Amino acid sequence: MSKPADQIGRQDDAQATQVVHAGRTPSAHFGAVSTPVYRVSTILHPTVTGLETSKQAFTYGRRGNPTTRSLEDALCQLSGGADCVLTPSGLSAVAVALMTVMAGGGHLLVSDSAYEPSRDAAVNTLSGMGVHTEFFDPLAGAAIVERFLPATKAILVESPGSLTFEMQDIPAIAAAARARGIAVVADNTWATPLLCKPLAMGVDLQVEALTKYVVGHADASIGAVIANAAWAKRLRHLHGALGQCASPDDAFLASRGLRTLAVRLPQHEANARALIAWLQTRPEVARVLYPGLEGDPGYPLWRRDCTGACGLFGVALKPMARAGLEAMLDGLRLFGMGWSWGGFESLVVTARPKRNIRPWTDEGPLLRLHAGLEDPKDLIADLAAGFDRAKAIV
Ligand SMILES: *Cc1c(COP(=O)(O)O)cnc(C)c1O
Repeated sequence: MSKPADQIGRQDDAQATQVVHAGRTPSAHFGAVSTPVYRVSTILHPTVTGLETSKQAFTYGRRGNPTTRSLEDALCQLSGGADCVLTPSGLSAVAVALMTVMAGGGHLLVSDSAYEPSRDAAVNTLSGMGVHTEFFDPLAGAAIVERFLPATKAILVESPGSLTFEMQDIPAIAAAARARGIAVVADNTWATPLLCKPLAMGVDLQVEALTKYVVGHADASIGAVIANAAWAKRLRHLHGALGQCASPDDAFLASRGLRTLAVRLPQHEANARALIAWLQTRPEVARVLYPGLEGDPGYPLWRRDCTGACGLFGVALKPMARAGLEAMLDGLRLFGMGWSWGGFESLVVTARPKRNIRPWTDEGPLLRLHAGLEDPKDLIADLAAGFDRAKAIV
């Protein structure tokens, strides 16, 4: 596909090569191209000395096996990290990352753009472990210093927010944090390890819900945390101590998805842009939320920090009767209604962002769309028929 350089993904070719080869060692697996699934709990040691010293590459199922290690290595390479651990879900990756940086309790700053279950974990679960959570304005940038307390230990950023789509100035936040010895955790799920490199921008721990685009087929739950050198040891220790291992089958599915990520993402982006261009002509639409769009408030930061955009975006509708909205959405044929995006299929959900700091001011309903890999002409026809149904009700 020919892409106007200024519009569609600027992924570099070297990364496409890396995605195909990173973490694979066919010679160690009888030539198998993809690292096979090692379903294993017990790992045998040939000698009692070996058993007691645990010097083998793999010693116990929960501690990893060639399938999980292969994916960890690939994600480390793609993210520029020192180590990577896999967890059973994206949310458990957020939890492991936050528990690593908040060990012993203290003050945690969470972006008001953060994923709702992450906010909930910080406020309602970590609070029982001596963590005091406050939210901060996603647009704070370097001004985040004004929110620092003597007890501040870590910051959770999510840029763009997977529901609110605000870009955050991660380099500015990370620089302010580093000057005070505060750790930064970035949930990078929207951008994936391909389109944004938070560790290179000064972040300490990068979280990925691999469940979304890396798995890419809506058929497995798995997460990852990638650490810089300063945090790698503490991350792996806590991950091991909590027994938060991912299943080898799910790691295999994530590895399989990863190999095609560099070709899927630009297509998701192109389809999202086709839908957005059409939505912007519709009288029902108040605004589109997509940082890759010129004119979006997040566009300058997106240009600076990301090499492409994915297929997930928001659409704020003008006020519409509930019955019209239901007629529109319930009758869609190609768009499914469900929360976990990043698969090959298109999705829509209604969204009510939970906010603590920056109030949500759109008057009409907010939709979150995921542009799948269908023909965008068919997706547009599906949405157009939906708008017609809504109009017929009013
Ligand atoms: C989906 C998601 C998660 C959680 O991933 P699960 O695998 O569903 O637990 C975390 N962060 C973001 C930004 C997400 O979109």
